[in-house]
Amino acid sequence: MVSGVTFERDRDITRALVAWFGASARELPWRSCGTRDPYRVLVSELMLQQTQASRVAERFDEFLARFPTVEALARADEGEVLAAWSGLGYYRRARLLHGAARAIVGEHGGRFPRGAAELASLPGLGRYTAGAVASLAFGEQTPAVDANVMRVVLRLEGRVLATADPRAVRLAWARAGALVEAGARLRPARGAAVVNEALIELGAVVCPARGPKCGDCPVAGWCVARARGSTGRIPARKKRPVRRAVYFASVLVADGEGRLAVTRRGDDGLWAGLHEAPTVERMDRASTGAEVGKLLGVGRVREVGSFAFKTTHRDCHFVVYRGRAPRRAPEGWRYLGPEAIAGLGLSSPQRRILLEMGAGGA
Ligand code: SF4
Repeated sequence: MVSGVTFERDRDITRALVAWFGASARELPWRSCGTRDPYRVLVSELMLQQTQASRVAERFDEFLARFPTVEALARADEGEVLAAWSGLGYYRRARLLHGAARAIVGEHGGRFPRGAAELASLPGLGRYTAGAVASLAFGEQTPAVDANVMRVVLRLEGRVLATADPRAVRLAWARAGALVEAGARLRPARGAAVVNEALIELGAVVCPARGPKCGDCPVAGWCVARARGSTGRIPARKKRPVRRAVYFASVLVADGEGRLAVTRRGDDGLWAGLHEAPTVERMDRASTGAEVGKLLGVGRVREVGSFAFKTTHRDCHFVVYRGRAPRRAPEGWRYLGPEAIAGLGLSSPQRRILLEMGAGGA
């Protein structure tokens, strides 16, 4: 049962949030046209997971121009989708989006299921994404708790918990649900959607993990963490994952026309399914030039540069070589010019290797 105090607090928080969002929401491409098209919501939500809004804003319209409908996306082959996703990182999301589009077209005749529960049954749609699409596109009174909302709720309630803690998960969904309910009461048509978007926006812009701007916060008056001075401890820190080193040796191999050899990575693991220059990869140490030349059959190789690249869990060390084209291209190799390479799905390091370092000639 909801007590009167909780009810009034939720109502007041919701009013403040909705007023703030109406006055301060960032203009972002997926919010334009007042559109609540479920396909646009789905694409934007998957892009926004683990990628900054400013980066997504640069790529959203281009992706939508290439795949304007869920049918167009479902028809595309995976390589095209990965290529259009280039630069956004975390390519698994592109595969999930593609799989969801295929399920919507193949199993639902191209019509999005409307409720959060039905949406959550689509491949790749977790509870958050399903809630976001159901609420933003269809006005369902359901919460959508991402990392931003989780942080805001934990701070509002002053609970020092890690975000993965089941108690934090339960609390965040329950409290966000109550605020969404208050929003729906305030504005029956779109209140639930506005509260969800406002909570996400508040977490992203005003209440980030580091340096919350409590002086600018519309809900500061109700925030327990702020009153107790505990914002820096909420959410509680989780243990850092152990980072692993990976050593890559990539070889620029040009054919007689100056086109570069490109291969496709396997279907599992880091950068699965993306393209790369022929590469030797090992975990224990860097390969020597002689080993690389022999393994790939490209004769004596010459080092042309090296750099480091960090992913969430790995420290990647790249050494880049030039080598001679083998008389017969090994299975899986293709020789492509820069335009064709630019149209492939490439990880950031391989984009640098093939398009920047590779442009340097022999
Ligand atoms: S008052 Fe500060 S800590 Fe509390 S929700 Fe607002 S920005 Fe976050």
